[in-house]
Order: sequence, then C-alpha cells, then structure tokens
Amino acid sequence: MERIGKVEKTEAEWKKILTPEEFYILREKGTERAFSGEYNDHKESGVYRCAGCGLPLFAAEDKFDSGSGWPSYIRPIAPSHVREETDNSLLMRRTEVLCARCGGHQGHVFADGPPPTGLRYCINSASLNFVKTETAVFAGGCFWCMQPPYDKLEGVITTTVGYTGGNTENPDYESVTSGNTGHVEAVRIRFDPEKVSFKTLMAEFWRNINPTMREGQFADIGPQYRPVIFVQNEAQKAEALASREALNKSGRFDRPAAVDIEPAAAFYPAEDYHQSYYQKNPMRYEMYKRGSGRAGYLKRVWGDEGGP
Ligand SMILES: [Zn+2]
Repeated sequence: MERIGKVEKTEAEWKKILTPEEFYILREKGTERAFSGEYNDHKESGVYRCAGCGLPLFAAEDKFDSGSGWPSYIRPIAPSHVREETDNSLLMRRTEVLCARCGGHQGHVFADGPPPTGLRYCINSASLNFVKTETAVFAGGCFWCMQPPYDKLEGVITTTVGYTGGNTENPDYESVTSGNTGHVEAVRIRFDPEKVSFKTLMAEFWRNINPTMREGQFADIGPQYRPVIFVQNEAQKAEALASREALNKSGRFDRPAAVDIEPAAAFYPAEDYHQSYYQKNPMRYEMYKRGSGRAGYLKRVWGDEGGP
C-alpha cells in the first residue's frame, strides 16, 4: 500500500473516465463552489479516496467542520499519499495538495486548523470518493510483520502500524520499546465490510502469529509484544470470542490460545519509518522475519496456508 506507483494518463484518457466536474477539478486545478459539494456536511465513518485513481487520501476521523464550505481535514490518511506544492496563482502564495499517485489536484492546505496538527486540508468534494469502512486492530508481536498479510487482502483499504492499549499519550517507538508504557505494537486495518469480513481478518490473524505465546511473539519478548485482539464493538467481540474458541477446538495447537480480547483504545500511528517497513527495507524485513523464528514457525504450523 505504501509503495505508491504512478497513474499517468493523457488528457483524452482522463476525459473518458472522469465526469466533467471531476476533470475540471482534478486535471485543471478547478475549485467547486463553497457549500456545494456532497462531502462538505458529510459525517459517516470511512475513508475518502482520490476520484481519479482510488488512492485513500483522508479518513473520516480527521475531518472537522471548518465552516469554509469545503470538506476539511487535519491531516492526510498517510503523509506519502499526498504531494504538496507551492501554488502562486491568484496573486496568493498557497500550498496545493495533490494525489501522490495520479497527480490529481485536491485542494490546498492552510496553517489555521485545529490541534493537534494546526492544519486545514481544504479539499474539493468532487475530487474524492467516499467508501464506508470499519476498523480492526490486532497486536501480533513486531508490527513490521503484521502489515503485509493485510495489505494483500481484497477489501482492505488501508493499514497503519502503531501503538495502542497503554497508559501514556502520544507514545513513540523508544518509550513503547522500554515496555513501561503499557502499549503494544499493533496494526490498524480499515476495511470495506462489503468486500471482506471481520471473520476473514481474524482468520488471517491466527495464521500470522503464535497464539500459544502470551508474553510476546517469537524472539520478541516483553509486554509491548503480547498478542491482543482490540475489538471496536460488541459484534467484533462476539466474532473474536467465537474465532478463538474455534481455534482452540481445531486441535492444531497443543495449548489454548493465550491471546486477550480487549476493548479498542486510542491508537497512535507509529513513526513513518515503521510504516510499510517490508516495502521500504525488503531485505532487512525478510532477514528479521526469518531470524525471529516467525517465518519458520508459520511454515511448520500452516504449511502453504501460513503468512504472506
Ligand atoms: Zn489519485
């Protein structure tokens, strides 16, 4: 997901797939009239994708009511998903926001937003397409290893690695690694429930961890590596309990699953360096996954069904 390829098309090709309004905004850097766009007042839970190429650009939880008449967000869904450029048109110096994949114009970013970022991404509705999503959060030891299996699942819109379940605010890698903050390394998955079920995400979870280890995962021992299913609601809790029960009854493991099911807590995205680590540092990632014992264990337990 992080390896953002480029989508390049000719003007004629864009005209074929975009509506005239989308073309005007995305390709001609137009602006829709204030208060006219369909997402200005929109408050559903989900993800806004580029109307040109489908790349997820903004998340509903980062949206706020700016009163400007355009959908406004405090940050992009991931720093690498947008490109920012100086725009000196209209006798103003502004910062233009573009889709990092297709270069489609989205809007501008201003330094008058609310905390914690102080930024206001002022975006056209017509350059976005909303998709309703649900969230799942799993801790399965080192978070580098928990992102690839979900990135490849159909219906997963975005994955983010981060820290959750602890008792300090805005933890960073160093403080979590000390084992004193109570946070665990985890992956947050935003998924389209019409395309992939929470049950399928659960099955993928079991196939990528050692469910009999409570005190960590593989070579990583410590409270920050304990496996946890963080449930968002009662429905997910019921599914998680049923899934753990089914795993215990399957006879695949000689001990019952030592994985806790806990209510979801604040999730703090990890430093950019850790996001999609397997794509940024493929050699080191493969060495780590083998060296930690995870790759070999999954192969033994699951054969070709295991892991990514
Ligand atoms: Zn795009």
